[in-house]
Amino acid sequence: MKHPTAALALRRPRPGTPQESKGVCRGETYHRLGISLANAVTLLFLLLGQHHFPSTHAFQNGNALARHRSTQCAKLLGWVQDDNGEWVWEEDDPAYLAAEVAARTASRDVPSVGSSTPIDGSEALKYSASATPTLPSGSFRPKQSLGQNFLQDGNTVMKIVRAFGKDASETIKRKADGETMIEGEVPGIRLVELGPGPGALTDPLVQTFGTDVLQCIEIDPRSVEMLSERHPNLRVRYEDVLQTDYPQLAEDEGGPLSVIGNLPYYITSQILFALADASHTGAVRSATVTMQYEVAERIVSPTKCKAYGILSVVFQLYADCTIHFKIPPTVFYPQPKVDSALVGLRFIGPNALRQRLAGVRPADLRRVLTATFQQRRKTVRNGLKKLALEVCAGDKEAAKNMIDSLSPPLPKSILQAQERGDSFAMSQELPKDWASKRPEELSPAQFVELTRLIFGPANGCDDAPFDRKIWRKLKHGTN
Ligand code: SAM
Repeated sequence: MKHPTAALALRRPRPGTPQESKGVCRGETYHRLGISLANAVTLLFLLLGQHHFPSTHAFQNGNALARHRSTQCAKLLGWVQDDNGEWVWEEDDPAYLAAEVAARTASRDVPSVGSSTPIDGSEALKYSASATPTLPSGSFRPKQSLGQNFLQDGNTVMKIVRAFGKDASETIKRKADGETMIEGEVPGIRLVELGPGPGALTDPLVQTFGTDVLQCIEIDPRSVEMLSERHPNLRVRYEDVLQTDYPQLAEDEGGPLSVIGNLPYYITSQILFALADASHTGAVRSATVTMQYEVAERIVSPTKCKAYGILSVVFQLYADCTIHFKIPPTVFYPQPKVDSALVGLRFIGPNALRQRLAGVRPADLRRVLTATFQQRRKTVRNGLKKLALEVCAGDKEAAKNMIDSLSPPLPKSILQAQERGDSFAMSQELPKDWASKRPEELSPAQFVELTRLIFGPANGCDDAPFDRKIWRKLKHGTN
């Protein structure tokens, strides 16, 4: 694992030059408005007060540093001219943030793995601080290419941490009652934060859980460096979350993972699919993650809705899914163009998944879903024609008979689940006219049945371990 060592200070265009209007940082916005940065900061200081403007203290420190620099340097608050005459942003005093967080952390009795009562996530339910997250200084320009929309609202951070506590503690409790797939599992929580960025969620997580049970995965070396400096004991992996080997990570950590993250929206579904695959081995038990509201709607959508599709079938099969709350663009910096949502996925785990599938292979289900939803305006019969022909090795008559056949009787295990009142199993039976329906009319459980009809029951496969990679793209992660 490489650790970046690049210095954080970035070069900026000279204030006032035409290039500057393309910038996205706060200081530049004020310039676009025709207000000098100095006036803008003074104005903001007066309007918002120190508590509501996280960088104020840091600005002052940067200022002080700038004032102490060579008198040849022209000064404009954090901007200084280097020896070659180029304008650079004077780095804020890094000790300021580190000291503040260290003080907050030291004042609490942070739990650790070694303590007698295992940490189970419920600690986060009580989290009540709503301090404004510390946005990075002017040198840390958010990168659109990495989906960097940083949380800047303490209240939203608090709500996310609490919702995470709920998802994590409930799944840990459930697993403690029964299933565990990781040998020698140590009880308690193991958190993984995806894309910590400058640490809006990381800081309260460190405060609540300590660094022993927390790991972060981040692709931006600036964040890795910043967080490693701020929390020296925190494990920050410099890695692409799409390439992470979650089952291996869970094994290394001694048990299943509880995931949290304000996700980079450009790869939301890829990340979710990687987590679904990881749930095959019980490596991930919950994920409490932000995403575009529109994607969240697709995950929880009932049948017969426009939003209903592959995401709905897969995640309603693999997990209990909840939209915790809607999130407006204003709580992010920079603001995205769309609403977001915090979604809780409580994975049901390999044993319960195996029961729901009753012998159907996830890879076959994927083929049925792809075939039908790729042509979602066609009937299921027409959508499945090509796949049926493939399965029947090109025998047209056999393919036609397959699609015209009635669905096989439900397996005993599903009938038993129905007797227990299991709501998933209750919607499993295929209607007689299934072939003339559109894919959005079939429930997730009926897609399982449809797969059995096309591929037949996977005799002897009921107990076989699931493949490691079903939903994740071939190029993502190991097999
Ligand atoms: N957690 C921070 C917050 O809430 O303010 C930042 C969230 S920001 C929406 C997404 C974060 O994911 C960024 O820090 C970005 O660098 C990181 N990221 C983007 N693509 C990534 C990838 N493929 N692997 C790991 N991290 C990634």
